[in-house]
Order: sequence, then C-alpha cells, then structure tokens
Amino acid sequence: MPMAIAISPNTFMAEAAADEALVQFLYRAPIGLIQTTLDGTIILINPMSAQLLMPLAVDGALDNLFEVLKTVAPGLRNLANANAQPGDIVCDALPLQVRQLGATRGEPLFLGLHMMRLDDTTLMACVTDISVVVQRAQQRLQARLHGQKRVDALTSLPNRTAVLERMHRALSRAQDEPAYDFALMLVNADRFERINVTLGHATGDEVLCLMGRRVGAAAHELGASLASGTSSPMAARLGADEFVLFLDMLEGSVLAAVDAADRLVSMLQEPYAIGEQTVHLSASVGLVTGKGCSGNAEELLELASLAMRDAKRAGGARRVVFESEMMDRARQLGDLELGLRTALSGGQLCTEYQPIVALADGSVVGMEALVRWRHPQRGMVMPAEFIAVAEASGLIRELGDWIINDTCRQLVVWRALLGDRAPRTVSVNLSRAQLADRKIVERVANALEASGLPAACLQLEITESLAAQDTAVQARLSELRGLGLTLALDDFGTGYSSLSSLHELPVDVIKIDRSFVTPIETSAHHRVLIEAIVHIARSLGMVTVAEGIETAGQAALLRTLGCDKGQGYFYARPMAAERATSWLRGDGATISHHVPVPAT
Ligand code: C2E
Ligand code: CA
Ligand code: CA
Repeated sequence: MPMAIAISPNTFMAEAAADEALVQFLYRAPIGLIQTTLDGTIILINPMSAQLLMPLAVDGALDNLFEVLKTVAPGLRNLANANAQPGDIVCDALPLQVRQLGATRGEPLFLGLHMMRLDDTTLMACVTDISVVVQRAQQRLQARLHGQKRVDALTSLPNRTAVLERMHRALSRAQDEPAYDFALMLVNADRFERINVTLGHATGDEVLCLMGRRVGAAAHELGASLASGTSSPMAARLGADEFVLFLDMLEGSVLAAVDAADRLVSMLQEPYAIGEQTVHLSASVGLVTGKGCSGNAEELLELASLAMRDAKRAGGARRVVFESEMMDRARQLGDLELGLRTALSGGQLCTEYQPIVALADGSVVGMEALVRWRHPQRGMVMPAEFIAVAEASGLIRELGDWIINDTCRQLVVWRALLGDRAPRTVSVNLSRAQLADRKIVERVANALEASGLPAACLQLEITESLAAQDTAVQARLSELRGLGLTLALDDFGTGYSSLSSLHELPVDVIKIDRSFVTPIETSAHHRVLIEAIVHIARSLGMVTVAEGIETAGQAALLRTLGCDKGQGYFYARPMAAERATSWLRGDGATISHHVPVPAT
C-alpha cells in the first residue's frame, strides 16, 4: 500500500456496505482499526491506524500487518494461526514497544494491540496509543525502586545514600542559618567478625538487626527531646556492622550530642538475646558536629570514621569526638603507606638477623629475621612503626612474602658458605593479618620450594593472642606445622593465654618475653615465674627461649632456671646479612659468644 493512507470513507468498509454514518464514525475514531486477510494482508485501515503504525512501516509501506509488526510482535502470525475459530481472540491488549521510553529521538510510543478472528477469511485488529499508561506504570516502578535504593534490606533502616542526602541538606542549611548545627555519630561494632566466625552469619545478621533497632530507639528517644525547627533524628545503616545516628541541633548543643553518643554506647553494650543465646557486644562511636569541621557529606563521614577508629584503638566501647589532629595523624599514616609501597618495589626493605644461642654453651642455634626499612630521608625505620601500617593497608602479604623468601634464601646461602657453622634454623615473625590469609600455607610452601630450604630449618613466630584465636586459625597453624616447620610462641607472658592453657596451643617453642627476663636479677617473683614456664613447657615437650638478655648475670640465672635458649644484646644485636655472615664465621662467635656485638 502506498504512503498515503488517507482512505476515503467511501472505500472504507465499502464491501461491507455499512451504513454511511457508521463508516464516518470508524473513519474518524480515535483508535486504530484494521481488517486483514488471514495472512495479514491489509484490506481496510483507518487514518488513526496509519498514523500509529507508520513509525514501524519500512519505506512507509503498510501492506501486511504481520510484516509491519514483525519487529515488535514476532509471534503474531503464529498466534493468529493458532486461534482459528471465528470469534477467537488472537491477542488482547498486547503491548508493543514502538519507541522506547526515554528514547533520544521522538516521543516514547507504546501501542496496545487487540486482534480477533472475524470469520474464515478475515482478522480484525484494533491499535491504541497506551504510551501514557505505560509511562505512568514505569514512573510508579521507578519511584518504588528509588525508595528501595534508600533502604537497607537487612534492617529496613535508611541506608548510606539516604544518610548522605540528609547530610547534604543539613550542610546547605548550615550555610544559610548561623544557629543551625548537626551531629553525626558513626557507630561500628567492636570485633564483630568474632560473632560471624563463632556463631555463624545468620546469628550475626540477627545481632545486626538488634543493633539497628537500638540505634533507631536512640534516635527516637532523642527526637522526643529536640527543639522545634529540627527534623527527627535519623538512624541508618551504612553497611556491614556500621551505623549512623544523625541529629539536627540548634544553638550550641554539642554537649548534648556528646551525652547522646555516650548514651548510645551504653545502649549498644547491653547483652543481645538471640534465641537461647546471649551475645555480648560493644560498639565504638565517632562523633562529628557540623560546626567542628568542614567538608562535604562524604568527607564528614570520613572524619567521623577517624574518630571512631581512635575509639577502637583505645579499646572500643567508647565515644571519641573528632579533633583536627586526627587528620594530621591520618595523613602521616597515609604518607607512610605510600612510602612503604615504594619501599617494597624499590628495594628499601632489608632484613637484620639476631642470633639465638644455646644457653648451655653459647653456641649459635638459630637466627631471627627482623625486618628494617632503609628510608631515603628518615634513615632506618623500625618494624614497630610500619608493620601495623602494612597490616592495615593490606601490604603485609607482599611484605611477608618478601621476608619469608629472603630469609629462606639467606639460610640456604649460609648453609652453602658456612657448613657446620650455619645456624640450624631461621625464624620469621608472622603477623595477625598474615595468619588471617587463607593462602598463608601455600605462600610458605612456595618460599620453601623456591629456596630449596628443608622445612625443618624454618621456624615461624606467632604471638600468643594469635595462637589462642578461633579454630580456623588453629587449623591453619596445624597445616603450617604439617609442612614440617616449627612454630614458636612469641612474647609469651604478654598476651591472654595462661600457663594452664599452654597445652592447647599448637607450638614447639615458647619465647619468654623480655619483660620477664629484664628483672630476674632483682626479682625472685620473676625467677619463680620463669622456672614455672620452663617446667610446664618441658613437660609438654616444648623448648624455651628467653628474649632480651642484656647481661651476663641474666644469662647465668636463666641457665640455672633450666631455660634452653637465649637471645639478646648480650649475645648480639640484630645485624645485616653480611655482618651476620662474618659473625657466624667466627669473627664474633669464636672469640666468645659472650662478647656482645656493639650496635650497628
Ligand atoms: P620480636 O619478635 O619480639 O623481636 C625482638 C625485638 O626485640 C626486636 O626488635 C629486637 O631488635 C629486640 N631485641 C632483641 N634483643 C634485645 C635486647 O637484648 N634488648 C632489647 N631492648 N631489645 C632487644 P625489633 O627488630 O624492633 O622488632 C620489633 C618487633 O617487630 C618484633 O618483636 C616483631 O614482633 C616485629 N617484627 C620484626 N620483624 C618482623 C617481620 O619481619 N614481620 C613481622 N610480622 N613482624 C616483625
Ligand atoms: Ca619474634
Ligand atoms: Ca618477642
């Protein structure tokens, strides 16, 4: 059929010989009417149909309805064939997407198609413009999704997006209204991962719901006591175990905000009843007020987070108010992290080795690797300053890999170079984050394989708090031991475990902390303690090493107390590999093991 579809009323339904008025009506009707043969060839079509279908017509041809609709209703022909009885409905209000909503060209267009089998030879179709209906439905759907985008699925509290919006509004209001201020409390559960690990994620989720409810209750309580002209406080969940309480304030009520934060801390500290269980949990809160700092909503959250992390560092279960010095400190840590990345890639890290000797005769039995950072500006930076940064930034894996590989390789070199004079073992310190890494066993095995060092020559040192941790960590420790290496418990006496729980720890060696060793010449109490440690360790088949021996008197006493090995400045300070090599060769060691090596 040609482009011009302006079929005259005379031809329209002429064969049907209908009444002229009816023809006129159908011709002008605001809906599209089409009559086709069974194969879709258009017999009759009114102007509205032509107008509606034209965007689909290839080259403006409206000859066959199935062809015209083939891109938007490809199954229509089959549907028509399947409904073969006169009066059968082929389709009813079938939506056809002619132009997409939000399409860049032209208005969105959706058609609704009705089709019926008229008789043995013809089909009757009706098309209407349903764009407005579809558009409304889509708007409703979008509004619902929009709402969902602001609600946390687990707790049904407002989520991060909602908090940021609220803060954004508050920040603009603070600019216009000098009396207006607000308080942002960032809440983070203390050691929450412990609950997921020991009680399971389902219980963890329940605890989070209860926490959310308590933050909500705190917001409600505060709402009742607020001045007029303020919106009700908002309790929200940012994600994981992190919540927010946001509060409008009028006229310098910072102290009230501090009180509110303290109250929140104590509310969150009440035991949580989950079924039959009682879960104990606390939370740390970082508090920031609008007047106390500048920045956009995201930046304010970051400041509150700095304060919250300070609360955690101080032991948790407390509130800390943000102060600007926190930012300086964070910046310094950031610089340190950046520098550490360069150190790793730029070969600024090095290892020093400190001998471990047999107390009985002073012979060298092992070497402990202690990492150092040769900083281009600051000189030698000690591990106490950067291990925690490496842990927090995730760099510890790379750093740990480097130390283990470097140390294993060093002992292989010593064995080749020094034969009998080479130490029997090297010790490497493992940090908390390294042990949390599921691949640690693989990493250690790789280092052993790459260097060719027998596993029995490697000792890994872990701190008490690590060894006493959950069953997953204990299983990992057993796997490490399964490689054939030995485990030493570092800094014994400073952590949580007691002498009575020593047998539960999967270790071969106990390193008695320097704080026990230093006073032994003057304190009978410490001598008794060391004797007890040695006694119990021996009964469990464990070897003891005394750390931080600085005097001949301490060395002699430790020997009589039955301690097996010792380490400390009295024997030698940590030394760079080259210096350690000559020390082992005998330059230091043969003269006497009791001659201390001066500081390098
Ligand atoms: P640590 O494992 O207890 O290491 C012993 C620390 O005591 C070393 O400090 C050592 O230099 C020092 N020391 C040894 N003998 C004496 C002594 O007679 N008197 C005194 N006052 N100190 C002595 P350093 O090298 O500063 O290391 C500190 C801590 O950093 C280490 O304590 C260890 O926990 C950690 N660390 C060192 N290297 C590494 C490493 O490669 N990886 C990990 N994860 N941690 C490391
Ligand atoms: Ca150690
Ligand atoms: Ca130690």
